[in-house]
Amino acid sequence: MFRNFKVVSQVIFGRGAFDQLDDILEQKRFDQKAGMVFLVDDVFKNHPLRNRVPVKEHDLLIWVNVDDEPKTKQVDALTAEVKQWKSSASGPALPEGVIGIGGGSTMDLAKAVSLMLTNPGSSVDYQGWDLIKNPAVYHVGIPTLSGTGAEVSRTTVLTGPDKKLGINSDYTVFDQIVLDPLLTVDAPPVQRFYTGMDCYIHCIESLQGTFLNEFSKSYGEKSLELCQAVFLNNWKPVSDDQLMMASYFGGMSIAYSQVGVAHALSYGLAYILGVHHGIGNSIVFDYLTDFYPEGVKEFRKMVARSGVSLPRNLTAGLSSEKMEKMIDVALGLAPLWENALGRDWPNIMTRDRVRDLYQKM
Ligand code: NAD
Ligand code: ZN
Repeated sequence: MFRNFKVVSQVIFGRGAFDQLDDILEQKRFDQKAGMVFLVDDVFKNHPLRNRVPVKEHDLLIWVNVDDEPKTKQVDALTAEVKQWKSSASGPALPEGVIGIGGGSTMDLAKAVSLMLTNPGSSVDYQGWDLIKNPAVYHVGIPTLSGTGAEVSRTTVLTGPDKKLGINSDYTVFDQIVLDPLLTVDAPPVQRFYTGMDCYIHCIESLQGTFLNEFSKSYGEKSLELCQAVFLNNWKPVSDDQLMMASYFGGMSIAYSQVGVAHALSYGLAYILGVHHGIGNSIVFDYLTDFYPEGVKEFRKMVARSGVSLPRNLTAGLSSEKMEKMIDVALGLAPLWENALGRDWPNIMTRDRVRDLYQKM
């Protein structure tokens, strides 16, 4: 069976494109009193962007904190806040849109809240594949960091009480994205690097995976070329534009293939130690010469150029109970291993081998 892949319906790209957001939303404002909800990364609270968010009379702006990556608890609380706001105002019971402005974490929160406004229960109930029953509220993603591909993916990655797993569904996909490279220019260089490496690793894992096909390859090769231009040639100022497109293409590539060893091990680090996605992928990737020899070599050049020093000794002193749980989380991601190593992966990637890799980190 071939996947019938849902894509973002509308995309606007360009430096300053953010200023068209008001016009874009105007076309979706059918009932003045319904209002729109803006979820904005609180890093922008004292930033000039604050005054450019087109908030109207019946809208709600919520500053979201993403010091920790999104949790089901946070999504449920935000959804309750929006419902409470709607119930205390006159007008329709649902807002006309949810707009997420921030990095992958904030975009994921916006996707999740737009889904939970129209689906009963807790977001925990929908962690998995195609469990969502009702279409989401119209939702818009506006990245302020480039690399995760969250702007194009059909998932919102959430940490729940017993797993880190996305809400994967066609309804999760944004209706509109606004790609404005100027929104990323103030990002701290270290964060820009880690989120960018997420993209680089998407490309390597997709291009070297057994699930590869011409669709994924075409997007993956272009994304890889852009990552190389950005992180090896450092071709400012176009690099912000290039990295934004690399993220989009990298996301499109993995959407029709899969990620691999680095992501599987990184999910374990995130679940047990709370290590953020881009950092976790980078920490892990440095130890994957056996799997991606050329990719790791090039990655190390990028690390050296960036001046970033990768965190070490994360697992030193970790209890054996936590280590075993971390191995469970990583090995639970069967499709990632199958993509990386083929059907015979359980014989190649044994618990001992995973433990051995983790113990080096
Ligand atoms: P992020 O959204 O977690 O943000 C990282 C930090 O950068 C935060 O402190 C944030 O406040 C700050 N920040 C964001 N934009 C900024 C800017 N322009 N200037 C200054 N600071 C800024 O980072 P990320 O790497 O973009 O996203 C990682 C998240 O994305 C993880 O939660 C991960 O699970 C998720 N993810 C989702 C998908 C998907 O397909 N849905 C794919 C990969 C990763
Ligand atoms: Zn990733």
